[in-house]
Amino acid sequence: MYKYCLECDWHASTAAGYTEHEVSKAAIEHFVETGHTVDSLRLPPPVVIEN
Ligand SMILES: [Zn+2]
Repeated sequence: MYKYCLECDWHASTAAGYTEHEVSKAAIEHFVETGHTVDSLRLPPPVVIEN
């Protein structure tokens, strides 16, 4: 899961080692603190490249 702010460069991602719960919580905290709109993106599963 990837969450990002539409109004500043804030973002949080499970790719950075956070759990989905932590990313969601961080997004809510950013919204509460700044009133900014946070949008989210589902990360696609890793692509397996076959030869
Ligand atoms: Zn923001």
